[in-house]
Amino acid sequence: MRICPNCGNNVDDGVAFCKNCGCNIMNMGAAPQQPMYQPYQDPYDHTNEFSAQDVSDNKIFAMLPYLLGTIGIIISLLAINKSEYIAFHIRQSLKMTIVSILLSILTVVSAITIIGPLVCLICTAILSVIRIICFFRVCAGKSMEPPIVCKLGFLR
Ligand SMILES: [Zn+2]
Repeated sequence: MRICPNCGNNVDDGVAFCKNCGCNIMNMGAAPQQPMYQPYQDPYDHTNEFSAQDVSDNKIFAMLPYLLGTIGIIISLLAINKSEYIAFHIRQSLKMTIVSILLSILTVVSAITIIGPLVCLICTAILSVIRIICFFRVCAGKSMEPPIVCKLGFLR
C-alpha cells in the first residue's frame, strides 16, 4: 500500500494512477520533496570563500601573520600574489595589530590611573590568546575572523 503524494489517498501497490484524484504516482516518487537542509552559517566563517588550491598552496603565509605579528604580515604581503586567502588572513592579523597598538597608547594615556594600565594588560593578554586561536584555526583549515575583535566591525 502506498499513499498518493497529491491527495493522501491509499493506493494499491503496482497501480500507476491514484483512484481518487488520477495523479500519476509512478512519476511523482514516494516522498514529497523536503526543503533543503540549511546548516547554520557563522557570519564570521569565511572558510568556503577560498578555493582548496589557494588554501593548500598558501597555508604557511596565512599562519605567519598570526605567529610573527607585524613581521609575519610583511612577509605574507610579499608572498600574496593575488591570493584572496592570504589577503584575508593578513587583514585579520592587521585588525589585531591595530587593536594592540591602540592598547599600547591607552596604557600610556591611562598611566596616571592604576586600573587603566591593568585593564590594558588584561586586554593584551586576551588578544594574545585570540592570536593563538586564529593560528590553530588556520592549521585546521578554517578561515574565520578572530573572536571578539571581529565584533569591533572594521576591516572585513
Ligand atoms: Zn490521489
